[in-house]
Formats: sequence, C-alpha cells, structure tokens
Amino acid sequence: MRVLGIETSCDETGVALFDTERGLLADALYSQIAMHAEYGGVVPELASRDHTRRLLPLIQQVLDEAGLTRQDLDAIAYTAGPGLVGALMVGAATAHGMARALNIPVLGVHHMEGHLLAPMLEEDRPAFPFAALLVSGGHTQLVEVRGLGDYSLLGESVDDAAGEAFDKAAKMLGLAYPGGPQVARLAERGDPGRLRFPRPMTDRPGLDFSFSGLKTHTLTAIRKLEAAGELDEQARADVARAFEEAVVDTLVIKCRRALDQTGLKRLVVAGGVSANARLRERLEHECEKRNARAFYPRGRFCTDNGAMIAYVGAQRLLAGEHDEPGAMQAVPRWPMDTLEPPAGG
Ligand code: ATP
Ligand code: MG
Ligand code: FE
Repeated sequence: MRVLGIETSCDETGVALFDTERGLLADALYSQIAMHAEYGGVVPELASRDHTRRLLPLIQQVLDEAGLTRQDLDAIAYTAGPGLVGALMVGAATAHGMARALNIPVLGVHHMEGHLLAPMLEEDRPAFPFAALLVSGGHTQLVEVRGLGDYSLLGESVDDAAGEAFDKAAKMLGLAYPGGPQVARLAERGDPGRLRFPRPMTDRPGLDFSFSGLKTHTLTAIRKLEAAGELDEQARADVARAFEEAVVDTLVIKCRRALDQTGLKRLVVAGGVSANARLRERLEHECEKRNARAFYPRGRFCTDNGAMIAYVGAQRLLAGEHDEPGAMQAVPRWPMDTLEPPAGG
C-alpha cells in the first residue's frame, strides 16, 4: 500500500510517501521558521496561508522524486491534530479533496502518535512494548507503549513543555527562534561548574514534569549577571549550559524512573528535543547501566515531518481504518491517551 502523508499542524509543511512493502519512498519538508523568526514565534494566520502556498508543490515534488503520479497512490494520511486549527485544516482539506478525486481512502492521524512511532522508520527499530519519552515544542510526556494505539500516560508536564522551555531560554539569551538547537550550540562553550539550576520535581516520586520554574530561574540568573556587569559571551554560554544540564538531567531522571517502574528494557525518545546531543549521550549511558536500549528517529524526523504521518497512517489504513467521506478532522486539542488500537488489527 502506497500512502501519501501530509503534516501541517504547526510551522512546517511536511509531505512523504511510504510504501508498506518498500518503506519510505520520498519525503520533503518546507520550514516556515525564517518567516516566523521575525515575530519570535509562530503566527497562526501566517502559518495557515503558507501551508496553502507550499503544500501542493511539495506533494508534486515527492511524487516526482519517487517517479510516481497521483494515480499510483493507494491512500492518504494527514495530521488531524493536535495543533493550530487553521494550519491543520489546510492539510485536512487537501487530503480529503485529493482522496475524493482519486477515490481512495483517507485518514486523519494524531501528530504525537506520529512523533512516537517515527523511530519505526529506522532500520534499527524498537519492538513493542517500550517506554517512550515524547519531548517536543508542545509536549513532554512519558508513555507506556504496548502496541499501535495501546498507550498509557505515565506522566507529563504540568506546565511548559521542554522544547518550549528551550525556546523561552533562547529568547532570554537573545537567540533566534526556535531556540533549542541554538541553546545547545551555545551551551557547548559553557562552563558546567559555574552555575547550577534546579531539577524541578525530581525530589519527590512520580513521573510528572514542570519546566516553568526553570524559565524564571534562568531569567533571574541572567538579570543577576547583568546587574553585576558580568553578562559577557562566556556568561551567556554558562547560562545556556546550566539550563541545558538542568533540563537534560530532569528528563534522564524521569526516564530512569519510568524504566524501573515499568520494568521495560526499551526506551523510545522522540519529538524535537530528542535531537539534543547531550540528552542522547546521557540516556545512552543510563540505558547501558540498566541493560536497556534507547531508540530515536534520525535527526530530521525528530521535529515535524510528513514521513511519521505517512507511517502511522499506513499502519492504521492497513487495518481498515479511514475517515468517512467528507468528514475531515481538525482537532486542536486531542489527548493521546484517548487513542485506541485499530479495530481490525
Ligand atoms: P508538538 O509536536 O508538541 O505539537 P512541535 O511540533 O512544535 O510541538 P517539534 O517540531 O517536534 O515540536 O519540536 C520543536 C521543538 O524542539 C522546539 O521547541 C525546538 O526548540 C526543540 N528542539 C529542536 N532541536 C533541539 C535540540 N537540539 N535541543 C533542544 N531542543 C531542540
Ligand atoms: Mg515545529
Ligand atoms: Fe511536533
């Protein structure tokens, strides 16, 4: 089954072709980052308009890359939520329109289920069951995964997501949006011994997270250095380093707890922050100690992409799931633990 995947939940237009026999055939991404950077964050209305401009040319591009035409498609999957409603509607309407014209099935999929299963696109992929840390711009969650659609939420952030915290810390340090990769780069030059930031909610049991206090702590640290006339390039790097260490350490402590609590030996880490090199390094070390293994998506599939949507869509479409004709879905808020395994599978 050849499935076209469409991702338009936020600020990247992602399109990919996944073949259930041959694997990923093509994928393309258009990032709107440069357009939103000027505003320091994503402007929803601009995002929707840009998806409208980019989506059809990207679909043509992946078809060309794979040497296929629209008539070769067997089904279409699109991100139905969660995300920005206007942005979601562009992908949903395009998917439903094309599916109607081609007379093929179409299915709306959950964006976080896409992130969660993105490591399945790799050759070295995890078997079920596994524990998963989902760390992205809008989510920080620990999930127990028994199979496709069979998820229990173990813990999540009670306030900001880890990626959001990275983005806010970046802004305070005068770095461009999205800040995660930039904070990580600056942190490399930082002295790990100069400042120590708190590890929120690690002093009590449980698998929930909180990152909003860390944001305040970062701002206070910057203001103090500034007041003392010490906020030079090295000090900014030291703040970035202390911040990154605190976030990574917190995530690692909770992953360790999740593995111990569930007894699982496989850990999936996905979503934008899973691209973070220090996080990967620390998790590798922790997993080694417990005789466990960590799995990640390749770098460009950590953040939003069409491939993960095509993959999840294909699994569910194969099991017989599909939207009713004309019933496009765009669901801005959609908790992942309401998902179910496909009825036919
Ligand atoms: P969600 O998936 O929750 O709806 P999103 O789609 O905006 O949110 P992603 O695209 O998965 O999130 O990830 C983007 C986030 O990942 C941003 O917050 C970005 O700063 C962060 N990020 C990307 N690379 C890194 C990195 N190397 N280190 C830390 N954070 C990173
Ligand atoms: Mg994004
Ligand atoms: Fe995402």
